[in-house]
Amino acid sequence: MGTRRHTNRRGGLRKPPKLPGSPSIFGEFFALPLRSGALHTKSLGKVYSPPWRGAVAQRMKELIAEYNVDISPPSRRVIIYLTHPALSCKVLCMNKKAFPETFQQAVIYFSDEDLCIRLFADLRWPDGSPVCPNCAQKRTSYLSTRRIWKCLECKKQFSVKVGSIFEESPIPLSKWLPAVWLIGCAKNGISSYEVHRALGVTQKSAWFMLHRIRLAMQCQSFEKFGGSGETVEVDETYIGGLARNMHRNKRAKGRTGGVGKQAVFGLLDRRNGKSRVKIQTIPEAWKNDALDIIRNTVEKDTNLYSDEHGTYRFLGSEGFNHAFVRHAEFYVDGAVHTNGIENFWSLLKRTIKGTYVSVEPFHMFRYLDEQSFRFNERFGNDADRFLSIMAQVAGRRVTYKKLTGKQEDQTQINGEGI
Ligand SMILES: [Zn+2]
Repeated sequence: MGTRRHTNRRGGLRKPPKLPGSPSIFGEFFALPLRSGALHTKSLGKVYSPPWRGAVAQRMKELIAEYNVDISPPSRRVIIYLTHPALSCKVLCMNKKAFPETFQQAVIYFSDEDLCIRLFADLRWPDGSPVCPNCAQKRTSYLSTRRIWKCLECKKQFSVKVGSIFEESPIPLSKWLPAVWLIGCAKNGISSYEVHRALGVTQKSAWFMLHRIRLAMQCQSFEKFGGSGETVEVDETYIGGLARNMHRNKRAKGRTGGVGKQAVFGLLDRRNGKSRVKIQTIPEAWKNDALDIIRNTVEKDTNLYSDEHGTYRFLGSEGFNHAFVRHAEFYVDGAVHTNGIENFWSLLKRTIKGTYVSVEPFHMFRYLDEQSFRFNERFGNDADRFLSIMAQVAGRRVTYKKLTGKQEDQTQINGEGI
């Protein structure tokens, strides 16, 4: 095969060459989001209350200085990306100058396939040792000509894409990563036609790529909403169907029915202006589902605001401080309103109507995941959002068959066609 050897000092194992501008990983620390929304960092031995991102980043900077971690070139600013999807957090030190900030820089940066592989490998395996997906061993060697690893235990070969949303895709990471960047930063979403034209993949491939990336955008945090003194807004809405059947008017909401409409339930945790949402689809007769979602998601003793819908009437007797607004009479009563979640609905509807034209109920949850992700990550910059998605691409897979409901014909059902 004639592969070149890249021997590193640690164990004589080969790995892809370190390329200029590649991020260096400071390390991985394990953290546990608590029900209160605080973050218990096991390795830092401290509990950080929300918003903890800045405080944790500060602590990591101190540690870097304390242990004199070599970040080259040392004169450059270092920023720390704290990826915070589920139960563990990886802290990445990135050379701010070297990491792209705009889409144009990202396209240039990701044009090098070797660098993309290195970046993704570093994100997946922060200790620098790829794990064999077959036998879970770490003794591997990198075949640089073929850009794959070979397990030295079971002799199987694997690529960096295996076990991630990129698995079995013939599209190179140099196109995948700009696609992740695009969807993470497009405020009103991005259609498969736009990705098809921007990246030179077929529209069908673009459609599949976007749905896979939406899977990575799905929030899997078990963090609860609310808490004593905190405020959560709840509301339901209907999305889809013909545009002329859409009613902004709350009084008409839900009473119009309409073919192809999907009932959607949402919660918004206000958190002093840094609000977060959790959105999901619910069946047509949604009363019990909505109550279950509230019971499972919201801490007791939370100030819970809703409209006057009868479903929410019993929340007061279940340990929530429930108050509601009568939309027929007024929309705001002091702090009691649901304007936060209603703003989110209008954002969501604008995206779906403006960019995706129509979305079948079958795929609705994917678009909800996408829009919720961007909303919850809105305080970061484009690079932050890109890295947040990249932190979640491993361990998630969706096949074309599953996406399309087995038959190829059904790829047309999302309104964008093939
Ligand atoms: Zn193996």
